[in-house]
Amino acid sequence: MDPLLYLGALEVLFLVWIKGKGLEYVIMHQRWIFVCIFLLPSSVISDVRAWIIFKMCSATSESEIFRTAKLRVECFHISNIFQVVRVEPLANMGQVTALLNSIGWTLPVLPELDDLTVGGLVMGTGIESSSHIYGLFQHICAAFELVLADGSLDRCTEKENSDLFYAVLWSCGTLGFLVAADIRIIPAQKWVKLCYEPVCGLDAICEKFAEESANKENQFVEGLQYSQDEAVIMTGTMTDHAETDKTNCIVAVEYIPLRHYYHRHTRSIFWELQNFKHFFLLLLYSFYFSGLNEYPIIHPFYLF
Ligand SMILES: Cc1cc2nc3c(=O)[nH]c(=O)nc-3n(C[C@H](O)[C@H](O)[C@H](O)COP(=O)(O)OP(=O)(O)OC[C@H]3O[C@@H](n4cnc5c(N)ncnc54)[C@H](O)[C@@H]3O)c2cc1C
Repeated sequence: MDPLLYLGALEVLFLVWIKGKGLEYVIMHQRWIFVCIFLLPSSVISDVRAWIIFKMCSATSESEIFRTAKLRVECFHISNIFQVVRVEPLANMGQVTALLNSIGWTLPVLPELDDLTVGGLVMGTGIESSSHIYGLFQHICAAFELVLADGSLDRCTEKENSDLFYAVLWSCGTLGFLVAADIRIIPAQKWVKLCYEPVCGLDAICEKFAEESANKENQFVEGLQYSQDEAVIMTGTMTDHAETDKTNCIVAVEYIPLRHYYHRHTRSIFWELQNFKHFFLLLLYSFYFSGLNEYPIIHPFYLF
């Protein structure tokens, strides 16, 4: 039989099955179908799009600069205490970790979603599980270069043009166009040793979280709350040595490669659904108008 007929027959069976089970049941209990058919392909398309943008380099080549497309990073020593990278605003967190971690460095505050850009994190804000030590993304920035409304290129730091330096943060692009940011970096290690501790009771959860955050030996502190009274508090430290029987296996303690830890939430379905929402609504409406859906027209909105 013609492969197209097979596909058509499969599609009809699929729709009849959805009709029989009810759309709500399928979405709640058979989420893998939507993940495999829609989310994973849309995720690949998004990666291809990012790769194309990454390749459309506008920066000029300079021998002493590590540069990959839109991401241009200069490493230079400022003092004995910390170092700084200069980054273009369109560089995103995925590109920053790909480059910096491979040469043994990292940002002290690295917001975990791959697509968040330096420009957006400076002009908006960013936070991460290391913020109990280093503060917000803005607190690791040492200097900005902006093109202002009069066309001038201005550099600002805590001491030079300090009014502008402090006004830029959270300004959402209203003061000028950010063209470069100097950001502090710290040495990176290969693994994150992550300890999981379940805690019960809201007071105990808050107490535990505050206690672990106050302990500056924890380089990373994060809590996942499952209900009002159940949470897991995760504390992590970077290390170069992993116990082989505890790599990437979720027990009380596990070792995760540093870059995997940083981007642990990137592909979670919760965020992916945001990208997918419009397409999904379209699909639901096509069901509705084709008479396959018995739900009232307002119903799809309750899903999001
Ligand atoms: C689904 C989702 C998940 C998130 N998760 C996290 C998280 O895990 N951790 C975290 O810290 N934050 C998180 N955030 C918040 C996020 O960090 C901020 O919203 C951030 O500002 C978004 O960065 P962006 O690169 O997407 O910037 P955009 O949304 O593109 O831009 C943010 C603002 O900055 C301005 N801007 C951007 N670039 C420039 C430039 N070069 N010059 C001038 N202005 C500029 C834009 O005009 C806009 O007003 C999340 C947000 C969403 C929507």
